[in-house]
Amino acid sequence: MTTAIPASAPWRATILTLYPEMFPGPLGLSLSGEALARGAWGLEARNIREHGLGRHRSVDDTPAGGGAGMVLRCDVLGAAIDAAAPAGDPRPRLLMSPRGRPLTQARVRALARGPGLLVVCGRFEGVDERVIAGRDLEEVSIGDYVLSGGEIAAMVLVDACVRLLPGVMGKEASGVEESFEGGRLEYPHYTRPRAWEGQAIPEVLTGGNHAAIARWRAAESLRLTRERRPDLLGPDARTSP
Ligand code: SAH
Repeated sequence: MTTAIPASAPWRATILTLYPEMFPGPLGLSLSGEALARGAWGLEARNIREHGLGRHRSVDDTPAGGGAGMVLRCDVLGAAIDAAAPAGDPRPRLLMSPRGRPLTQARVRALARGPGLLVVCGRFEGVDERVIAGRDLEEVSIGDYVLSGGEIAAMVLVDACVRLLPGVMGKEASGVEESFEGGRLEYPHYTRPRAWEGQAIPEVLTGGNHAAIARWRAAESLRLTRERRPDLLGPDARTSP
């Protein structure tokens, strides 16, 4: 299946994959799915195998120098990229890769402000190194673990971008005051009931004093960041008690 991309969509993602039927998958549900249905963004999943070689539309081969597994061929991938994003396509070209620079909220924000993405999903042992330079691919990792393919990583990336597009999230503010924005983890949330299994909502949150609530949230945010992710606070904070 190759999903058509509305030419009018302001932010467009093209995914190159051996499993286009995985898309839109979870991106077709909830906020991202509703936004996709109204054309607030576009998604196209293209099968790399369309550019495969020979009767079997072969896309991979054994690694030069020997070793286990198979490698996606650079000629096949190069042709798939050229067909999906002809010269002049302004979208950044990304390759999902555990060797890439780890994805951050800042990078996501920058990508969401741009025209969209072309994302290459690797499989097997990965891709022939020459296509990375030859097609100017930016390697992006979603974390220090190895997945069996780039598709789920691409969904993570696209989901993170799409929720920042104008009008996708119900309330714009919820995109600003959350984890990583401002280099902190988000403060804890509570809702009804007021007491649950012996645990009460912190009193300050039910008192209606908005300045006190803001102070409590800032302090909790800092406490959680110190405890769990001191790296976000920079080198000075790491050494302080
Ligand atoms: N042999 C490679 C791993 C290949 S995993 C290595 O050791 O580096 C197969 C594919 O899954 C990769 O080409 C990549 O597209 C995807 N993938 C695996 N882990 C990933 C991660 N942490 N972030 C992004 N993509 C990943």
